[in-house]
Amino acid sequence: MAEKAKDSFVSIVLRLAIDSEAMNMVEAIGAFTPHRSAPIVVRIGDGLRVVRAPAASGQMMAYAYQKALVELASKANTNMPLCDDCRNYKTLGGFVKRATADPDSFKDGEFSVIETCVVEDLSGFMIVGKGRRGSRRERRKGGEEEEGEEAAGLRRTSPVWFSYLLPEPHLTSFKFEPQFHVRFNVKEGNNPFTVENAAAIYTLAIAIDVKAIGRAADRNGVIREVGDRDRRVALALEALRAVFHGQLFGAKKSRNLFRFEIVGGAASISNPLPFTLSPPIRGDESYVAKSYRRARSMVAGLSRTSIAQEINMAYFDGDGIAGDLKSIVESVVGQGAKAEGDRYCEKVEAGSICLERVRDFDQMIDWIRNKIFGKA
Ligand SMILES: [Zn+2]
Repeated sequence: MAEKAKDSFVSIVLRLAIDSEAMNMVEAIGAFTPHRSAPIVVRIGDGLRVVRAPAASGQMMAYAYQKALVELASKANTNMPLCDDCRNYKTLGGFVKRATADPDSFKDGEFSVIETCVVEDLSGFMIVGKGRRGSRRERRKGGEEEEGEEAAGLRRTSPVWFSYLLPEPHLTSFKFEPQFHVRFNVKEGNNPFTVENAAAIYTLAIAIDVKAIGRAADRNGVIREVGDRDRRVALALEALRAVFHGQLFGAKKSRNLFRFEIVGGAASISNPLPFTLSPPIRGDESYVAKSYRRARSMVAGLSRTSIAQEINMAYFDGDGIAGDLKSIVESVVGQGAKAEGDRYCEKVEAGSICLERVRDFDQMIDWIRNKIFGKA
């Protein structure tokens, strides 16, 4: 399992209860700072309606994640490669990632970039080059050749993906509220200002394309692998833990540090094809059952094309919307399923599915780690 698992695809969905947050604000309008918002579809009565809801961007989460990668890579006892741009992101004002470097200075193309920086490996990059176009065909990771116009620059799609933080789609699951404050200034006296705070049960989706980590094409289109790939896969997972335990995400934290808890979530690890979990929202059918049902259909369908798909899933249910393991399995597999304890596995034609219940977010990250590397 372990070697195969290192070529797998990980999907994570989380439910976060967040109070009084101003974590992703848009430009101030005079003395008013509005929260970022996004239109979402909610059910009202027996119809669907679009409403404005508080949101936070995937870019905000990715920024926090990159900060965590730098912290972890630079504090590790044995060196993990970091380029100067990523190491000095604070003084540069963000993650520049060698964007203006000469692409030709990277002898082995994309591979040279990821070999020399774990942040660029795990979060992608774009080195724009000098604008020559159409001069080269580039071979992308995974081996497919891309047709058509190509910039002479170098780029990489991030193997780690983040969704927007979006509220659970029920009118009672989110709220905005302008909060009035006063700032004292010796020259002008009291200066009132208003910050729009939000509270929501947010959902977040994360995906990790494990097989892409530490692997990239060189200039001959040959996919090469870094020597410390296992450590980078472990880093990808531990950086996630650091983002939440260190509350690295968000903004305005000096006076608007939000209260939050990860109340529920699920993870899946699939091979050889990617599988993503259903959104972790409250509904008539539990999102874990829905994911399980979809996983089963996928595994059965792929069996008919002689692909032995393996999907392992785990979940935790702090706010009681996912249900217990026995009822989830019975609702999908039927009464005949003998689900006992916290784990259920079955063969589905040529493939297999397992579902496990864990205690919390940390146990879930440990579970993913154990699936990839085997139990220590
Ligand atoms: Zn870098």
